[in-house]
Amino acid sequence: MQNPYQNAMAQLDKAVKVKNFSDNFIAHLRQPNRDIRISIPVKMDDGSVKIFEGYRVQYNNALGPYKGGIRYHSLTEINEVKALAFWMTLKCAVADIPMGGGKGGITVDPKSLSKGELERLSRGWVRGLSDILGPHKDVPAPDVNTTPEIMAWMADEYAKITGDKTGATFTGKPIATGGSLGRGSATGLGGFYVFDSLRKQIKLPEKCKVVIQGFGNVGGHAARIFKENGHTVIAVSDSKSAIFNKDGLDLEKVEAHKKKTGVLKDFAGAKNITNAELLELPSDLLVPAAFENVINANNAGNIKAKAVLELANGPLTPEADEILFKKNIPVIPDILANSGGVTVSYFEWEQNLKNEHWTEKEVFKKLKKMMENASEKMLEKAQESKTSLRMGAFILALERIQKKS
Ligand code: NAD
Repeated sequence: MQNPYQNAMAQLDKAVKVKNFSDNFIAHLRQPNRDIRISIPVKMDDGSVKIFEGYRVQYNNALGPYKGGIRYHSLTEINEVKALAFWMTLKCAVADIPMGGGKGGITVDPKSLSKGELERLSRGWVRGLSDILGPHKDVPAPDVNTTPEIMAWMADEYAKITGDKTGATFTGKPIATGGSLGRGSATGLGGFYVFDSLRKQIKLPEKCKVVIQGFGNVGGHAARIFKENGHTVIAVSDSKSAIFNKDGLDLEKVEAHKKKTGVLKDFAGAKNITNAELLELPSDLLVPAAFENVINANNAGNIKAKAVLELANGPLTPEADEILFKKNIPVIPDILANSGGVTVSYFEWEQNLKNEHWTEKEVFKKLKKMMENASEKMLEKAQESKTSLRMGAFILALERIQKKS
């Protein structure tokens, strides 16, 4: 299997075959503007010092300051961060927000650290990179395994170093320290708005049976939102287990079970299945909301969902994309489907800079409008070029970035 950056470049190759773009523009987009690795020394609780590897990729800022999350994971490496930064560039363009694309990370299993070690590591990432961050330069946010609390530590460290009082250099902060209402559920909710705008076009029923891979920030909120809107969530999973009930899961009880036992497994109201089985369940909508490359050449032929909503970044390999396209299974692409998160991050940045506080209702109203506009424009581009929704989203983004490059 290719690394995520090779997958991202394969998608770009495909887009330039569908539509003509300037060679110079595409050559520039094949490389990030900057790709930085840092060493972060952290004093551990036992008095020893451990060195961690951290990253920031500033991919493209034609549309505005770099924007993108920070991932903490033991498998995080530079090619993953570069791919995610490339997708962020396109995502901001599809959502039509005035920001460019970046991404960061640290190779670490955060569960292996104490809270103090995690805080020192997070502050160390900021110290190593503070020169290149800033509200008008580069605005990081949370991603996998990074939380509002971590963003608060980072924002505090940045303020100590630079004296910046706006708080606008990090988004996804807790409400008490300048976070936006609605940010926590924004990615899941944005994904739902996108799905809802496209549902009839992709021929899904009014009430769908939904399967969700990943029950974290994005997948957990998405599950709740789909259910609140009359759909039935029949299966969910986390890194260790998956559960299935063909008549629908009682999500509140599932959450209580997960809180109590730490796993989804052995929930009384469902059957245990494997993560591989979950992806291949018959359903109306499959929502990958965990990691990259989970649907690939090995399992794409077995997918029985009628459509896929990519809430994770890069969950399908290019081979899987091709297989599902041939099987007539529409895929709502990540760069649109999960752009609700960065859209509300942008709202947070704007509120911080203007010293405003918007209500949750205002935030969701603005988010809905932006997701509906983006879905409509993407569909137009896909139909114009008789191509997939992903290529429609790529064309929309590339045209917008090229215009400002
Ligand atoms: P998270 O850490 O809160 O949740 C990830 C979930 O995936 C957890 O439930 C974890 O147990 C599960 N998981 C991990 N490995 C798995 C595996 N192999 N199989 C099944 N489940 C597995 O992270 P998140 O913030 O919810 O992010 C999930 C995805 O959404 C990532 O691809 C991320 O880049 C993307 N995303 C997140 C945001 C955001 O606002 N948080 C925005 C856009 C995109």
